[in-house]
Amino acid sequence: MEILTNPQTYEPCFSIASLVLLFVTFGIHLSEEKHFNTQGRFFGALVVDAILLNLMGFLHTLYLYNDHAHLVIGTELNNFIVLTEKIAAHLIPLFAIRYVMSIFQIETDNILKKALLILPTVYSMIVFMVGFYTGFYFYFTQEGQLKYIYPQGATVYLATDLYFIFATYLLVKYTRSLSTEKSSALWIFYILMFLAVPIRIFTKSSCIFEFSVSLSLLLCVYTFQNPSEFIDRTSGAATKTALNFIINTNLLQKREFTLLGIHIDRFSVVIGEKSPELAYELLSQITDYLKGFSPEKTVFFTDNEDFSIIFLNTMPDETVIVKTVEQLRKRFKEVWKVGNEEMKFFETTYAIAFPDEADSIERYNEVRGVLGKVLSKQSREIIRVSDLNLKVVEHDKKIDSIVKHALEEGILEVYYQPIYSPSTGKFSSCEALLRLKDPQLGFISPAIFMPIAERNGTILAIDRFVLAAVCEMLSTSDARKYGLEYTEVNLSVVDCIQANLVDNVKSTLSKYQVKPSEINFEVTETYDQGISASMDENIEKLMDIGISFSMDDFGTGYSNIARIAAMPAELFKLDKSIIQSAFESETSYMVMINLVKIIKSLGKEIVAEGVETGEQARQLIKLGCDHIQGFFYARPMPKDQFIQFLRDHNG
Ligand code: C2E
Ligand code: CA
Ligand code: CA
Repeated sequence: MEILTNPQTYEPCFSIASLVLLFVTFGIHLSEEKHFNTQGRFFGALVVDAILLNLMGFLHTLYLYNDHAHLVIGTELNNFIVLTEKIAAHLIPLFAIRYVMSIFQIETDNILKKALLILPTVYSMIVFMVGFYTGFYFYFTQEGQLKYIYPQGATVYLATDLYFIFATYLLVKYTRSLSTEKSSALWIFYILMFLAVPIRIFTKSSCIFEFSVSLSLLLCVYTFQNPSEFIDRTSGAATKTALNFIINTNLLQKREFTLLGIHIDRFSVVIGEKSPELAYELLSQITDYLKGFSPEKTVFFTDNEDFSIIFLNTMPDETVIVKTVEQLRKRFKEVWKVGNEEMKFFETTYAIAFPDEADSIERYNEVRGVLGKVLSKQSREIIRVSDLNLKVVEHDKKIDSIVKHALEEGILEVYYQPIYSPSTGKFSSCEALLRLKDPQLGFISPAIFMPIAERNGTILAIDRFVLAAVCEMLSTSDARKYGLEYTEVNLSVVDCIQANLVDNVKSTLSKYQVKPSEINFEVTETYDQGISASMDENIEKLMDIGISFSMDDFGTGYSNIARIAAMPAELFKLDKSIIQSAFESETSYMVMINLVKIIKSLGKEIVAEGVETGEQARQLIKLGCDHIQGFFYARPMPKDQFIQFLRDHNG
């Protein structure tokens, strides 16, 4: 028991090193915007307490080992210094626990829990106070060191152990809602903090404890207090990662909370048009404004058009949400001033109650997906999940599982739609279009199941299946003989960015002995620069081996002419929506004519898609479209029928 009661040794170098680390940490902490929220406050308290601890330790060391300092400080003051140091040391576990709790957003919601939580610390404080005046728990040696009286004095360590047990419980229970990086950082923090106590006892060096506390705080400032993953520094809005984290931890604690979403119509387009400075200015203006409504002063900007605010514990109190929405609506009727510009936005608000309406992140994403369909209709009322037709979600779920098993079950089939070339009067190309026939639901449109396949990842296998089917068709049928020059195959963006795309395509082509020039991939434009960069790389490699490309769905979306002009695609497919509206209104007709002119001026060929009448076909040919595709000539059809079609029309 010597070991528990013996005074500890001090090394000034450790104290100085600790202090340096702590001041760096404190500096970083103060520069963060987060320092005023709950988590930030407890972190700040920890750092300040650790500084106090080290400072006292340092002064005490001076008293012990430096004659001059010994005289200046004196016995009385030294005793106070040691006492302060002890108190600071025993406050650390409490602050550390509160800090960890705030990371997981755990509140002590009743007095009893609050009292229980601070009890061990209160006990330690009493021990020090009482001990200081009575000498019942410890006394000061002649050299001025604090010495515990066994066993009553050492009970403070046992009190600290209670925090250790509680911390273990918290970490085991909650770290699974963190990223691996964060959860390992937290475990290291825990180990450094709490294992330092036994180390301190056995090595009798208090400096190791102090030093590890400082190290762990520095670690935290970089992982938890450094919010770049959680907060977008330029706009001050919290990220999607942060939102997912908050939702997860609160669900884990079985808390009820409400997410208020503010959807701003066409916001991403507006942002995209502005210079980065103006865009950020606008973003931070809206974020700052919305922060006023957030109890936690946090606004999430999760995708390009949605802001969200979380209301904890206000679930039963609808009025908070309703009042907020009323105020928001008023504000959004007015303009936002950025630079010299004034902008007006249409917002739609929606509320999702957790866990009643969404009990997991997946479910939240599903609900948000269904909301998306309603939001674009610009209803100005607050949308509640209960008003939604969640059957759509169920339906999407069902299709999701159908798509996942479609390949194994052999319910996918590739259809071919002939494409007419006026210059030769023949059908020299076609588009491969996928068909899915579920035994129960019947035919499901690719427009419905392809986006789902893109989300659940089956798109990669599906697109490979289509390419293989096309190659097989070419190598086993008389399509070539009847004048089919190439086949257009749709390539999803997800595919376009795969590193092994080129190898896969190459091996499929060589397996069926299909020439690269017989395949034309249809791709759509993306706005994401990161994506388009790796897409370009793949396209370039595939073009090098002789595969050609088409720009699909041209005229929809917000075509970036500069980027499109630089695209190495030889073919541009005018989307069927453009064609169809062109024959419904004068202005749309002008739009189409101008799109045709743009494509022509770039020296590219045009495919007109969705041509349904002879009149449309005639006019488009007159305008100079090189290829015509549509129900007027033929619908997409199964392989055998398609070969028959070629024989009848090209033969
Ligand atoms: P898309 O690439 O724009 O394909 C053209 C769509 O227009 C096809 O719809 C086609 O059946 C339809 N269409 C053709 N002519 C006419 C017409 O005269 N009038 C009308 N109203 N529609 C016409 P489908 O087959 O339902 O495919 C929808 C979308 O699904 C495609 O749009 C494409 O984006 C995607 N898709 C289809 N097959 C595949 C595939 O194998 N791989 C990938 N990645 N996507 C595919
Ligand atoms: Ca297409
Ligand atoms: Ca299209």
